[in-house]
Amino acid sequence: MNCIFCKIVSGEIPSTKVYEDEDMLAFRDLSPQAPEHVLLVPKKHIQSISHAGQEDLSLLGKMQLKLAEIARNLGLEEAGYRVVTNIGSDGGQTVDHLHYHLLGGRSLQWPPG
Ligand code: 5GP
Ligand code: ZN
Repeated sequence: MNCIFCKIVSGEIPSTKVYEDEDMLAFRDLSPQAPEHVLLVPKKHIQSISHAGQEDLSLLGKMQLKLAEIARNLGLEEAGYRVVTNIGSDGGQTVDHLHYHLLGGRSLQWPPG
């Protein structure tokens, strides 16, 4: 499959890793939109949360808790941070492999564009 994030998971495309276990990988975004911008992806190819199923329940739960842990480790907990997952074209998804953006280190605006 010609998927950039599957290639990052396999190591075919290099990345700056922030966290890795048997289920997931976190790495720094190539084009950071905040002082801290990390992407967390499942190692399993799932297109988006719209394509996840009951079998992914535990994986998705673990990923959400891991996002909080990574944010804590990056020192973002006190000031706050944002977790975003874009879905489909109107959602602004450009890589069709489920990923959570973890953004922090500056005051983020709302609503998003
Ligand atoms: P999306 O727009 O799908 O929500 O987010 C995709 C993100 O992946 C973008 O923020 C983009 O900068 C990032 N990205 C795209 N290609 C690469 C890559 O090869 N390496 C890394 N580290 N990030 C990438
Ligand atoms: Zn993939």
